[in-house]
Amino acid sequence: MKIVLTIAGSDPTGGAGLQADLQVIRHLGCHGMGVLSALTVQDTAKVHSVLPVFPSVVLDQLRCLVRDVSPDAVKIGMLASDDVVRNVSLALASIDPDVPVVVDPILFASDGTSLLERRAWPALQGLFTRSTLVTPNLPEAEALTGVDVSSKQGCEKAARVFIEEFECRGVLVKGGHRQGAPDDLLALRVGDVGSNPGETEISFRWLEGHRVELPNGPVHGTGCALSTAIATELAKGSDLAVAVDRARGFVADALGNAYAVGSGALVLGYSSPA
Ligand code: PLP
Repeated sequence: MKIVLTIAGSDPTGGAGLQADLQVIRHLGCHGMGVLSALTVQDTAKVHSVLPVFPSVVLDQLRCLVRDVSPDAVKIGMLASDDVVRNVSLALASIDPDVPVVVDPILFASDGTSLLERRAWPALQGLFTRSTLVTPNLPEAEALTGVDVSSKQGCEKAARVFIEEFECRGVLVKGGHRQGAPDDLLALRVGDVGSNPGETEISFRWLEGHRVELPNGPVHGTGCALSTAIATELAKGSDLAVAVDRARGFVADALGNAYAVGSGALVLGYSSPA
């Protein structure tokens, strides 16, 4: 069985974070391993507080684990603090460089709570250089690049910043926060343009999205599920574009089956049992 490692924060509701990632990995037929990077106090309505795990303990968890087990893919979610980001980068250096790494650059929860301290943003950008794919939503893409992403042209410009300045191999700019159709942009580095050193050739593909209107409220944890599903499909051997298509289909299906567990946001539902 293929193995997917998630490095993520805890969401006690099970809607997002490490608890949700492990459910996704299992539903997609792989074995999930989890290294906890932060605790949160939260219910389905809001995040009340965040406590990063001791950075050296994050490093120890990762080093101990990867000495023994070789993951087939890694997903990185909420990291909370600068020192945690740096220690995750250090630990990644001891994982085979061919192992795909999907980074969900989580900055804020839907209720606006910061899930990564501001001074950690440059270190997070450092982590992008080791990633196969980075999956920002629109607010994250805008915050990290400084580019206005309200238009599709703006999204392409921001994606170019991720690839040329932050040295990402690929970026999926998720359109769920857009007014209107929630199309996503998949931008992949193709190579350097021969005659213009420094200029990068990038393929842009717009992926059509359909908004799922749910009568009883917003759904929590879709970004966590998508990035984890992409990592899991990569672990199973799909190429990146196929992994993204399959993961989007998986999350769209789970959105249609979302259900309430408390008084706040719904959680994703999976139609077939694990
Ligand atoms: N808590 C944890 C541990 C998370 O990883 C995330 C998501 O990214 C959240 C909370 C916030 O989820 P949402 O953006 O759906 O509010």
